[in-house]
Amino acid sequence: MFEYAPAPESRDVVDIKPSYGLFVNGEFVDGSGTAFKTINPASEEKLAEIAAASAADVDLAVQAARKAFTTWSAMPGAERAKYLFRIARIIQERSRELAVLESLDNGKPIRESRDVDLPLVAAHFFYYAGWADKLEYAGYGTRPIGVAGQVIPWNFPLLMLAWKIAPALACGNTVVLKPAETTPLTALLFAEICQQADLPPGVVNIVTGAGETGAAVVNHPDVDKVAFTGSTEVGRLIARSVAGTGKKVTLELGGKAANIVYEDAALDQAVEGIVNGIFFNQGHVCCAGSRLLVQESIAAELLDSLKRRLGTLRLGDPLDKNTDIGAINSAAQLAKIRELSDAGEQEGAERWSPACAIPDRGFWFPPTVFTGVAQSHRIAREEIFGPVLSVLTFRTPGEAVEKANNTPFGLSAGVWTEKASLMLWTADRLRAGVVWSNTFNRFDPASPFGGYKESGYGREGGRHGLEAYLAGSAPRESR
Ligand code: NAP
Ligand code: MG
Repeated sequence: MFEYAPAPESRDVVDIKPSYGLFVNGEFVDGSGTAFKTINPASEEKLAEIAAASAADVDLAVQAARKAFTTWSAMPGAERAKYLFRIARIIQERSRELAVLESLDNGKPIRESRDVDLPLVAAHFFYYAGWADKLEYAGYGTRPIGVAGQVIPWNFPLLMLAWKIAPALACGNTVVLKPAETTPLTALLFAEICQQADLPPGVVNIVTGAGETGAAVVNHPDVDKVAFTGSTEVGRLIARSVAGTGKKVTLELGGKAANIVYEDAALDQAVEGIVNGIFFNQGHVCCAGSRLLVQESIAAELLDSLKRRLGTLRLGDPLDKNTDIGAINSAAQLAKIRELSDAGEQEGAERWSPACAIPDRGFWFPPTVFTGVAQSHRIAREEIFGPVLSVLTFRTPGEAVEKANNTPFGLSAGVWTEKASLMLWTADRLRAGVVWSNTFNRFDPASPFGGYKESGYGREGGRHGLEAYLAGSAPRESR
């Protein structure tokens, strides 16, 4: 393998302040909880001190959102759209700054934050800006729900913010959003963008903090709609706590996707899809293709190619433009990945990683492949949320579908075959919200996303994503 010269993106393009307040009613204010720090997981260096919102601070944010709702919801859709288009354009203008900040706070490679996260974030705002003045025409009515309480995870901090805020605002709701504790910085820069766009105060409020802050948002009696993306465990808690309150809820939870490769598939293309499926964003992806199901007749050949390809992945500095695998987001997540991978070995699966140097500081995990995995193994059943692939084999399409569906989750799946009939037959039988064919991890704001079973309920994105933020029933053709 040849060596690359380092090609670091400049971190000087972003101005990180030593400390940040909460964003309430259009202004940055102090929090009354105990401030915490956010670090760069690639170096363990402290990036900034972050205010923590107590239940009382969350209450002030909800009050600000309630007050702003009166004028924001009464504003003609075409006027609301102007703000959303403005925000989308500022995101594009400041995308380099946002991408660097995302990579610093989260650990993901700049290549991904620059070429995937940021373009999708802007696209999401453009897409829903376009809907704001067409809701009535399209039969959705114009009745927003009210104040949305939104809680998001750390794997796609700004993208998850866009998924939550863009449709809520387009439909005339106001929001109180809590970013994840380890990745608050792009949400706080987004708050500055709201100021820059002259968004009326109180329409967007950002309350930083830990799980208790999230619980205060979700449980606030004046929140009308709860939108949560995160673990199935916390999703269950939330479902229980809002039951019977009349709050509308959407839950986007975990996954354990099968990536099925049939013997007739274009193998080189499939190898790229497998790599993208599980090693994109260090595998910190709810819809990651973490279970490779490969037809027995091609298993040896496919695994050889896959291992060769993994040998070329570059792990290291997330700000280097050559980096494929960045840092694991936190020490806690690294411990979880290690624990499950060790369990895989103890249960008898065979572990393999390419030779790859691990930096001295920061949180890292090499790309890892387990073969000889049985369906009962923990690595085949539990979400690892890291760069770890479990390989299982099958002989017939029926067996592939049965194994793919043998999971408590149902978020996504991939099918690799040149035969359209086999692809459609398989996709029809998979219990997954999204099925990709001959590709993986492809997103578009016009396409709905969401799960079955323990992967949650409700859809985000596309026209379906509007329904979560409007009262009344949707037009028949969109159901
Ligand atoms: P998590 O622990 O559930 O955290 C998600 C968010 O909820 C964070 O902001 C967290 O705050 C907050 N939170 C924690 N406890 C809470 C409580 N009791 N009440 C309200 N909020 C609370 O999930 P994670 O480990 O950070 O994220 C990874 C998970 O997200 C994975 O399971 C992944 O599959 C899932 N995910 C799903 C999708 C999807 O669309 N289906 C997309 C991305 C990720 P702290 O940050 O302070 O802990
Ligand atoms: Mg951080």
